[in-house]
Amino acid sequence: MRVFVAGSFNVDHVWRVAALPPPGATLAGQYASGPGGKGFNQAIAARRTGAETAFVCALGPDGGARMARELAAADGLVLHAQSSDAPTGTAGIFVDADGRNCIVIGAGANAALEPGFIASALAGLGEGDVLLAQLESPLPAVAAALDAARAAGATAILNPAPANVAIDRALLDRAEVLTPNETEFAALLARHVGERIDAEAVAGLDQARLHALCRDLLPDGSVVVTLGASGCFVSHPEARQRGDAAGHYRIGAEPAQVVDTTGAGDAFNGALAASLALRPALAFGEHVRFANRYAARSTEHAGAALAMPHLPAA
Ligand code: ATP
Repeated sequence: MRVFVAGSFNVDHVWRVAALPPPGATLAGQYASGPGGKGFNQAIAARRTGAETAFVCALGPDGGARMARELAAADGLVLHAQSSDAPTGTAGIFVDADGRNCIVIGAGANAALEPGFIASALAGLGEGDVLLAQLESPLPAVAAALDAARAAGATAILNPAPANVAIDRALLDRAEVLTPNETEFAALLARHVGERIDAEAVAGLDQARLHALCRDLLPDGSVVVTLGASGCFVSHPEARQRGDAAGHYRIGAEPAQVVDTTGAGDAFNGALAASLALRPALAFGEHVRFANRYAARSTEHAGAALAMPHLPAA
C-alpha cells in the first residue's frame, strides 16, 4: 500500500523584507532558497510519516532538477520525473515583517506535465494505494492521475489548491476525497453551487450547513475542509461514512507552538494520504485526526518541504 503524489516541484526563492515592495522600488532583503511546490511538499510529508511514496512531476534540464533528485533520494522518495526543456518550476516569494507575502510562480516544467507520462508513471497503482493530486499541474494531467487511481481501485484525493485555478464539474467529480481550505472551499461553492460565502466565515458556519454545502459540492465523495487554527470539518455522502459513526463532524486543531503555518495544508494532505495507505482498517476520522496532528506539528518549524516533521503514522 503506497502513496503516489502527482504534482509540482518548485525552487522557492524567498526574500524577507521590511515591507512588500511598491512598483518601481528597489530594496534590500534577506534571501534564502529551497525546495517547494505543493506536490513535492505533500510527497515529503507522506514519506516522513513512513509511507512508501512516489512523486510524479516534470523537471527541467538544470540545477533545480538536481536539487529535486538529491532531496528525493535523501528522503527515500521514489521519483518519476518527466524531462522537459522548460526550466524547473520556480517561485519568487516576498515576505514582510508581519508575515504577509506576495508570490510569483514560474510554472516552467510543471506546465509541461503530460497526461500520457502520468498514466505510465501510475501504471503500478493498485487497490489500497492512495493517489494525491493538486492544481499546480495542467488540468488534463490532474484528470489523468485521478482516472488512473479510480481505474486501479486506489483512493483518489484531490487537494483543489491553489484557489485561483478554476476547475470544471467533470474534474471535481473524479475526486473521491476533496480537501479544500476555506478559500478554496468558498471559490468552489461560488463556481459549482452558486453560494457566495466569505472564506473568513466558513469556520463559523454550523455543522448542518457545512454538511449541506459539502453534499451539494461533491454529492458522491467525502469533503475535508481544512480550517487553519480551527482544525477541520469532515463530511461524507450518506451512503459512505467510511467507518465513521457520524456522516459529518468537526475536529479541533491540536495545540501547537506555531512558528510558521506555510505548508500546513500540504502537511495535512500528505499525512492524510499516508495514513489511509498505511492503516486501511481504520475509520476515516482516525486518518483525519492523524493529518490534523501532523499538520499542527508542521507549524512548529519554519519552511515547507524541509520542515515536514518525521512522525510515523503506524
Ligand atoms: P497553507 O496554504 O499555509 O499550506 P492551508 O490554508 O492550505 O495552509 P490550513 O487550513 O491553514 O491550510 O491548515 C491546514 C491544517 O493545518 C489545519 O486543518 C490544521 O490541521 C493545521 N493547522 C493550521 N494552522 C494551525 C494552528 N495555528 N494550530 C494548529 N494546527 C494548525
